[in-house]
Amino acid sequence: MYKAIFIDIDDTLLDYIPCCREAFDEAMPEHPEHFQLFFDIAGRLFAEAKHGKYTIAEVMDLYPQEFIAAIGYPAEAVEPFKHAFRAAWGTTHTLVPGAKEMLDTLKNKGYRLFAASNSFGHLQRSRLEHAGILPYFEDTFISMDIGYDKPDIRFYQEALRRAGLQPHEVLMIGDSMTTDVLGAQKAGIDALFFDRRAGDSLLEIIREL
Ligand SMILES: [Mg+2]
Repeated sequence: MYKAIFIDIDDTLLDYIPCCREAFDEAMPEHPEHFQLFFDIAGRLFAEAKHGKYTIAEVMDLYPQEFIAAIGYPAEAVEPFKHAFRAAWGTTHTLVPGAKEMLDTLKNKGYRLFAASNSFGHLQRSRLEHAGILPYFEDTFISMDIGYDKPDIRFYQEALRRAGLQPHEVLMIGDSMTTDVLGAQKAGIDALFFDRRAGDSLLEIIREL
């Protein structure tokens, strides 16, 4: 019944925490012990963005600023850290277990596949490429390119328009109840919640498709 699947990237296809750790260690090799603080600051700001307090673009600037201030480095350290982190982030590509197998299965069943993520387009595409999974996707819908962040209904509407699809023809798969599941549903798109914390496996959740 579905023609296409939209798939979130972080914590659905690529494992966010190890990717974050790797990029952090490259950006701040002198202080690996600050990772948790960095991770917590970024996590809080991204959570606030999900509920509309900030755009993803704003958060991308805010978390390096807050982190650098929190460790007592001068403000001049923000830009170099931010650039080093982003450069490293663009190559991080630890796969979630089963991600490639899920993409193979969906592709073999004839679904058109699209990535749907909140971030920078060029960095997300680079990460998918490093992970060897970019070729599975007909297109990538990334918030900074689209102009709206999930769960804004306009993100999904623009993605549907670009793919030439109707809402009922698409299934969204993602690990965020807010941005992926409820966001897609608001746009009339069915959604599958990938609940990693509950131990869901990607191959298991797509078994009925
Ligand atoms: Mg995610």
